[in-house]
Amino acid sequence: MAKATSKSAKKKSKADAKKTKNAKNAKNAKNTKKTKKKAGAATKASGPKRNGKQIPFVDYLVLGKTPYLRANECKSCAARFFDRRNACASCSGTEFKRARVKNRGIVTSFSIVAMGPQPYVSAIVDCDGTSVRTTLIGVEPTPEKVTLGMPVKLATYPMGLDTEGTEAIAFGFAPA
Ligand SMILES: [Zn+2]
Repeated sequence: MAKATSKSAKKKSKADAKKTKNAKNAKNAKNTKKTKKKAGAATKASGPKRNGKQIPFVDYLVLGKTPYLRANECKSCAARFFDRRNACASCSGTEFKRARVKNRGIVTSFSIVAMGPQPYVSAIVDCDGTSVRTTLIGVEPTPEKVTLGMPVKLATYPMGLDTEGTEAIAFGFAPA
């Protein structure tokens, strides 16, 4: 009986030794990684450091693996709104549910806005019956390149970092 105990104790200590060795290796690997990361960051320009967090620029943009727009849909007539409402503009209904808007649509109206540092395209996109006011991105803002009925899809882009390093994400629609 005593023999068996001592044997198992020996086995255990051997296993412990192995564990310690592994832990040490893992720790060393981790340190190497950390050092590398730090060196990389140091070469970048100063300013707020990206903290890995993102926030949508408008509250109806839902971020994630596949970002999408979320509308408030009237429970009685299914009209959709992107802003918060107390009552439906179509039927005066007061109950809304959240609805996911299709990420693809077609341009139903647009205007090329030439004010500001560079021209851009302001458009209304029809996403399977839901009208979305948006800017068109990834397309030259000229009447030759932008056309009515043009198929587009939702796209997101970074707007910059806040002081904490959180990235603000905006959306637009790009040619599909
Ligand atoms: Zn309604």
